Amino acid sequence: MATLVNPADINPRQVANKSDKKALLEAIRMTLGVQSAAIRLNTQTFNRNRYAATGRLADYDQLKDRARQIKEQAIANLPGLVEQLEASVRANGGHFYLAKTAADANAYIRDVLMRHEVKLVVKGKSMTSEETKLNHALEAVGIKVAESDLAEFILQVADEQPSHIVAPALHYSRERITALFKRKFTTDLPLDTGEELTKFAREILREQFIAADAGISGANLIAADSGSIMLVESEGNIRMTTTLPPVHIAIAGIEKVVPSRTDFATFIELLPRSGTGQPLTSYVSILHPPLKATPFVAPGKTAKPREFHMVLIDNGRSRMREDPVLYEALYCIRCSACLNSCANFETVGGHAFGGETYSGGIGGSWEAGTGTLMNARFSELCTACSRCVPNCPVRIDIPWLNENLRQRMNFAQESSGTKSAFGALTGSAPEDRTAPLQKQFFGNYSALGKWGTEVAGLANASTNLPGARSMMESVFGVDRRRTLPPFPKKTWEQLYREESGVKPGALPTGVVMLADVFTNYGAPERGMAAIRVLRAIGLDVVLSPAMPDGRAAMSQGMIETARLQARAIAPMLRRYLDAGRKIVVLEPSVLAMLRRDFKHLLDGDDTQALLAQNSYEPLEYLWKIAQEQGLDLAQTFPAAKCPHGTRLFYHSHCQQRTCNAATQTVDVLRAAGFDVVTSSVECCGMAGSFGYKHEYYEMSMAVGEDLFAQVRQADQEGGPRTLVASGISCHEQLFAGMGREVVHPAELLASTLE
Ligand code: SF4
Ligand code: SF4
Repeated sequence: MATLVNPADINPRQVANKSDKKALLEAIRMTLGVQSAAIRLNTQTFNRNRYAATGRLADYDQLKDRARQIKEQAIANLPGLVEQLEASVRANGGHFYLAKTAADANAYIRDVLMRHEVKLVVKGKSMTSEETKLNHALEAVGIKVAESDLAEFILQVADEQPSHIVAPALHYSRERITALFKRKFTTDLPLDTGEELTKFAREILREQFIAADAGISGANLIAADSGSIMLVESEGNIRMTTTLPPVHIAIAGIEKVVPSRTDFATFIELLPRSGTGQPLTSYVSILHPPLKATPFVAPGKTAKPREFHMVLIDNGRSRMREDPVLYEALYCIRCSACLNSCANFETVGGHAFGGETYSGGIGGSWEAGTGTLMNARFSELCTACSRCVPNCPVRIDIPWLNENLRQRMNFAQESSGTKSAFGALTGSAPEDRTAPLQKQFFGNYSALGKWGTEVAGLANASTNLPGARSMMESVFGVDRRRTLPPFPKKTWEQLYREESGVKPGALPTGVVMLADVFTNYGAPERGMAAIRVLRAIGLDVVLSPAMPDGRAAMSQGMIETARLQARAIAPMLRRYLDAGRKIVVLEPSVLAMLRRDFKHLLDGDDTQALLAQNSYEPLEYLWKIAQEQGLDLAQTFPAAKCPHGTRLFYHSHCQQRTCNAATQTVDVLRAAGFDVVTSSVECCGMAGSFGYKHEYYEMSMAVGEDLFAQVRQADQEGGPRTLVASGISCHEQLFAGMGREVVHPAELLASTLE
């Protein structure tokens, strides 16, 4: 193994395969200890630039629709397109090979290079060649591979796998690269700046380009009608790899084929903007190989005619195409927006949140599709927060893919009497009872909340005893360092009944607040505050019965349980819709179920579309009514009367933001006269049950650190601000990180009424 430049003394390759959970946990520790600062800096820079670059695209949504349509059609017609491409490549004078497996692809490339007696090949960045482990296959027969991409060059020197699909060495700080080069090369150069490092690497690479007899590239897209290849890069090394040597081999997955060269235009607009936030990368090449220009002839070598080979690789992709869920991953254009906009990825990067080749939220589907399901275990780090979804240029529902992977991994578990009995007792669907106890514990929050509130005194007294916490940690994996929120003595339903005298379930017209189980059993006073606030602007508000909605179960991959719950709650909500009521949901993750995720669970039931159109977050609805009726919110909710003060730090919930239901809260608070500073982190890191899980506690707190830092920054001028958050788990995370009270926006507004 290579000498390590890593205080944790782990080479990322050792923990690349996550089929053993221990590897995942070690990888998290290693990345938190060594890589996190560089990953955060680089991904967050890409992410900020992406927001700016896509924000300047007037037709961003139309471009995404078009990109999705092109990919949908291309994957639907893939066998025909591959045939057409083969004919185009051959008509151009090139060679074409369709490799069924990674080994087939490697063998073909090895044979071509051996036939040409190639001793040194230069290679551009290609995730597909990482997938096939091409370098190892070639080096095994004595062919030296020179990675020509600077980041890949660094990784080759370090003997590490990429940690990011666009910027493979983004986990390296400049200082770590200096230390690595100093250790691996004999040089007196200082190598203290980016320029010095780049110049040093460039001189080595130049020699390789001159000496190489063949070049291997990937392909961002391939046009079936012409055999043209689109290559997007920032260093120019791919252009040299594909044009200098006489032999050029392009290796790509079959999913890269699109019908026509004209389709490239949409992706040229979207790919660099979505990845690094650049309007255009420094080099965009559209090649029509074999090229006509004479290849470079190094001194002492004889000129050879050009030869081009296109190696398309299946390696599980046809199976993915037939898969009812994973087919969607084939639309991926590997832009990395889903990595850079993911708070968990921003904290640990692809050596933890990734497998042997692919990383991030989309990486699990790729590892499962081209490798084995258990290799995709790192997809556990996807909390289904959904922040990546609106940023994906081909609109892939990444959390849904990961929830399905989780379900498959649950199904693959051994069954046991304990798990079955616990599942039967707590309400898991029979299919989900092989899921680990931890998943069934968190997935059946409704049952636990119901029992807990029925015996709140006893439950609260006992759950925080050291013995009980240690039992909960060892049996259910609930980390003992997390403060458990107390069960309320009365549920939201009970409080509502007592205050209004109306039985939950009455149906006059107006608004119905869904008694989501998280608020009903976790924060009933918050629910009552929301009712008071909506009534204060003249709305007629009733409360629905409390029923589980499927959110908790779905996040654990217990999709059949979630389906049963969605099918049970939908008719109850439909009765309110049919009676002309709008549905208001306090917990944003439940709002996201109604607006978006029920489409996966209600199978064509038109209730889902009605729910999507008629459900609201409370302050979103308040703002809508205030706008429509010209209400003076400063008069109704005078900030000056708020006992919490007027200076606020507000953190909105991730799913609230992807439901476009977050900015309205800030609008309402400011209209009422509050001074609001908002957080800009993608996610607080708690993400429902994620932060409670013993194995992910450190990671969850590390993700939260960005949010805590923003609070501290906001506090610097004028002293501590009142912490305000919309999601229950955000409350818990902010409380854990800042150690002070957190209030809901509805509670703030309600406090001004008293
Ligand atoms: S849903 Fe959230 S946690 Fe999952 S990949 Fe997307 S951004 Fe990351
Ligand atoms: S899933 Fe979407 S956002 Fe993620 S890399 Fe692929 S195309 Fe980009």
